[in-house]
Amino acid sequence: MKRLEGKTALITGAARGIGFEIAAAFAAEGALVAIADLSGPDCETAAADITAKTAAKAVGIGMDVSKEADCERAVEEAVKVFGKLDILINNAGITRDNLVLRMKESDFDAVINVNLKGAFLMCKAASKLMLKARAGSIINISSVVGQTGQAGQANYSASKAGLIGLTMSCAREFAPRGVRVNAVAPGFIRTRMTENLKEEAKARVEALIPLGRIGEPSEVAKAALFLAGEESAYITGQVLAVNGGLYM
Ligand code: NAP
Repeated sequence: MKRLEGKTALITGAARGIGFEIAAAFAAEGALVAIADLSGPDCETAAADITAKTAAKAVGIGMDVSKEADCERAVEEAVKVFGKLDILINNAGITRDNLVLRMKESDFDAVINVNLKGAFLMCKAASKLMLKARAGSIINISSVVGQTGQAGQANYSASKAGLIGLTMSCAREFAPRGVRVNAVAPGFIRTRMTENLKEEAKARVEALIPLGRIGEPSEVAKAALFLAGEESAYITGQVLAVNGGLYM
């Protein structure tokens, strides 16, 4: 039997990168997946791609996680198609890097609104159903820089550290009704977010990683798969680092 047979999952920011990889891995394990992302057409393409590869039903939902009405609609649409929602992955994220002295207030706000407030709004919308169903698994995609800080990323690292606090608070609130909430904290992962690194910078980064290499999106997806399914039934409020040992 597949690990997520009969389960339904909504994944934000899943039209590409880590989110897409999570959606594809979940579908391969039998889950019905809703791909929620900014561009409706990109969501449709990603959903069609997953259905073609796995024959699993996948739907695309264009939405903006920083808008409460969009979050509520995304959950409603997923439930309309699948009948229920078992798993939520808060993966949508952006960067607007700069040194604190040069960082515009609007760049700080934009990153907090998508990365942190977006996850809160999605938790709020999805937990209504999960608490009623007395079951569910929510996974917030944080980052190693939420644990260590990073020069040039005050907004991003604050949003990712905030996600860890959000994870633990929701875990405590939802645990009495059987809803688990965990975070995954990836290190450097090969996606659009990191592909612009120059060779020299990449070599510097790799030298800092005990396992000596940048991680793959599929390696983050495997951690999400573990936290989403029955194998982690007694785990809540935790941060699972997928960082090659970069922070321990
Ligand atoms: P990515 O390739 O840039 O994908 C992020 C996706 O989120 C994009 O499809 C983007 O849409 C979407 N998105 C942005 N704003 C949104 C909004 N307001 N509402 C809905 N969707 C939105 O990034 P990634 O590297 O896969 O990262 C995925 C997550 O992992 C992020 O939370 C990131 O912070 C985290 N992470 C990544 C790394 C890494 O090394 N890559 C490391 C640690 C943590 P558009 O493309 O249309 O803008």
